[in-house]
Amino acid sequence: MLKDHHGPDGDSIKENLELKDIFIAVKTTRKYHKTRLDLLFQTWISQAKRQTFIFTDWEDRELRLRAGDHMINTNCSAVHTRQALCCKMSVEYDKFLESGRKWFCHVDDDNYVNPQNLLRLLSAFSHSQDVYVGRPSLDHPIEAADHVRSDGSTTVKFWFATGGAGFCISRGLALKMSPWASLGNFISTAEKVRLPDDCTIGYIIEGLLEVKLLHSPLFHSHLENLQRLRGESVLQQVTMSYGGPENKHNVVSVAGVFGLQQDPTRFRSVHCLLYPDTTWCPTKNIL
Ligand code: UDP
Ligand code: MN
Repeated sequence: MLKDHHGPDGDSIKENLELKDIFIAVKTTRKYHKTRLDLLFQTWISQAKRQTFIFTDWEDRELRLRAGDHMINTNCSAVHTRQALCCKMSVEYDKFLESGRKWFCHVDDDNYVNPQNLLRLLSAFSHSQDVYVGRPSLDHPIEAADHVRSDGSTTVKFWFATGGAGFCISRGLALKMSPWASLGNFISTAEKVRLPDDCTIGYIIEGLLEVKLLHSPLFHSHLENLQRLRGESVLQQVTMSYGGPENKHNVVSVAGVFGLQQDPTRFRSVHCLLYPDTTWCPTKNIL
């Protein structure tokens, strides 16, 4: 039996979790291998190589050389449609079950993950409990016609964690999702409820299994105002994101490493604050 005890920083630690117990799935697509993934490899993935798996839709030789069997070609189509995205989520889920690891975490390719903070967060739970943790994109639950348990004449209300901020699911809960999520069932569930991949996850967990989403303020997508994240608190988050070309000002506020032109996403600056010994980080001028 695992007993609750308190870690040095006061967090409640349920489980002696190690990074290798976590499976981090990064969803990407052909056109972002250079423009987005390279930055992730240079930054946070370098600190979590063995737990990170890249889910894409194209057999990229360069990426294969870099990631080996941690690159998974889903054979899903390279388009931004509900079907294509659900196809990828379905492969992520199956690969996680197959991996035998304790936690499934999903992120997008415009997310920075802080592996140590992720580990600390998940250590507060037991992987055999039912845990679904992330940030909702809305301030209210969504209501959808229930085409799984009825013919769609009844509705179901549920919260879901937005995929663009990342979320995690314990193995215990993931196993219970299997009838609606494994081996292609995820795609048919999503088709029945006609919802995007992250909503469908919420539907299966909150709607069907009646397990509640744990709302965490430590996950961040570019749907929120990221500039409000500043200073030391940036380094305490589990995930963050950036606004992209249409909204390039929506980035976290960190000063003193690289300028906005050199580091428009701010990920390099964050990375150097966390891991100052990285070769490409500016060396501190010591007297
Ligand atoms: N994506 C994908 N296929 C596509 C377009 C996007 O798999 O055809 C992935 C992309 O790599 C990212 C996620 O979907 O991980 C969200 O895409 P994006 O950030 O461009 O859009 P958002 O929904 O955040 O505005
Ligand atoms: Mn995005």
